Amino acid sequence: AKVEGKNQYKAYSSVKDIKTFKAFSIENSLHKAMDMKEFELYYQPKIDIHTNQIIGAEALIRWNHPVWDLVSPKEFISLAEDTGLIIPIGTWVKETACRQNKKWQEEGLKIVPIAVNISAKRFMQKEFVKSIERILKDVQLDPQFLEIEITETSLMENEELAIEVIRQLSELGLKVSLDDFGTGYSALSYLKQFKVDTIKIDSTFIKEIGKNNQDELIVKGIINLIHSLNINVIAEGVETEDQLTFLREHKCNQVQGYLYSRPVKAKEFKELLKKGKID
Ligand code: C2E
Ligand code: CA
Ligand code: CA
Ligand code: CA
Repeated sequence: AKVEGKNQYKAYSSVKDIKTFKAFSIENSLHKAMDMKEFELYYQPKIDIHTNQIIGAEALIRWNHPVWDLVSPKEFISLAEDTGLIIPIGTWVKETACRQNKKWQEEGLKIVPIAVNISAKRFMQKEFVKSIERILKDVQLDPQFLEIEITETSLMENEELAIEVIRQLSELGLKVSLDDFGTGYSALSYLKQFKVDTIKIDSTFIKEIGKNNQDELIVKGIINLIHSLNINVIAEGVETEDQLTFLREHKCNQVQGYLYSRPVKAKEFKELLKKGKID
C-alpha cells in the first residue's frame, strides 16, 4: 500500500464480541456513542488512474468503542437501521463530512467531492432531500462537493421513487454514485433510468482479476456498458498493481483501494489533499 497510515488500523472486533455486546443493549450503546462522540469519519481517496490525482473521497464511519475496539460499520449500521438510530447517525455523518470539507476549503486547499453512504431506508424517506439541503445551507458548502453513494439494491425497492430522488439531488447540484454495482439483481436496462454520475464496480469482481476469467469478462463488459451510457466508472477495492494494469487496459479511469490508500483520519487526508496526488 502506498499510504499505510500510522497505527490507527486496529482489527475489527470479532463477531462473537459483537453478539455479546448486542445482548448488552445495542440501542443504549449507540445512543451513548453519539453523546460520547465515539464516532469518527475516515476518508479514502478516489484516484484518477492516469494522473494519480485525488479526484474525490469516500467518508467511512468508525466507532471508537471504549471496550470493543473498532466495531465494523457493516455490523452497527444494520443495527442502527433496525433501531431508527440511523437517522441521527446519518445526519452526523453528512454534517461532519460537509463541515470538514468546508474547513479545508477555507484553509485554502483544493477540495474534492466527499461521498457519504446513504442507507436504503433513509434514501426513500420524504425528508431526506430536505435534510441534505438544510445541511448544505448551514455549512455553506457548494453542493458539488457532496456526493451521495447509494447501493444498487436499495434503488430496486422502489424504482420510481429512486429515480425521482436522484433527479432532485442532481438538480441541487450533488453528485450521485451507484455503490456495490454487480452484486444486486437489477436488469442492466434500468441503468439508463437512474441518472447517476458514477457507477462503482463492486470489489468482489476486482478481487478476481487475474484469477477468474469469467469475472474478468464481466468487469470488461460492465466498463463498456457504463461508458456506452456516458456514465463514469470507478473500481473499488483495488489492491494490486495487476488489477490496476487490467483496469487501465480496459479503460476504467478511476480507482479506490488499499493500493493507493486505506481510509485515513481527517488529519492524514488533509496531507494527501495538500499534495493533490498519490504516487
Ligand atoms: P462500502 O460503501 O462498500 O465501503 C467500502 C468498504 O471497503 C469500506 O469498508 C472500506 O474500508 C473497504 N475498502 C476500501 N478499499 C479496500 C481494499 O482495497 N480492500 C479491502 N479489502 N477493503 C477495502 P468499511 O469502512 O468497513 O465499511 C463497510 C460498509 O459499511 C461500507 O461498504 C458501507 O456499506 C457501510 N458504511 C460505512 N460507513 C457508513 C456510513 O457512514 N453510513 C452508512 N449508511 N453506511 C456506512
Ligand atoms: Ca460506499
Ligand atoms: Ca461499495
Ligand atoms: Ca461493499
